[in-house]
Amino acid sequence: MLRVLILVAVVVGLALWLLRGRRVDTTTARRPGRGENPAQMIACAHCGVHLPRPDAVFDAEGRSYCGEPHRVAGPR
Ligand SMILES: [Zn+2]
Repeated sequence: MLRVLILVAVVVGLALWLLRGRRVDTTTARRPGRGENPAQMIACAHCGVHLPRPDAVFDAEGRSYCGEPHRVAGPR
């Protein structure tokens, strides 16, 4: 009887450990890994600062800038 209880405890403990491990795996899988940028980073043509592409301002030639003042100032 004692052996059965120990076996059940080991099986339940192992099952909980496996479930917890799987939960950790799914949460880390959703996060972007190292080197994977959710937003592409581009450089300002004027000052060279890097910023996410959605935040950039573009001129008629398609060059990217960090903001309107640098777009007006032009590439350097
Ligand atoms: Zn800039």
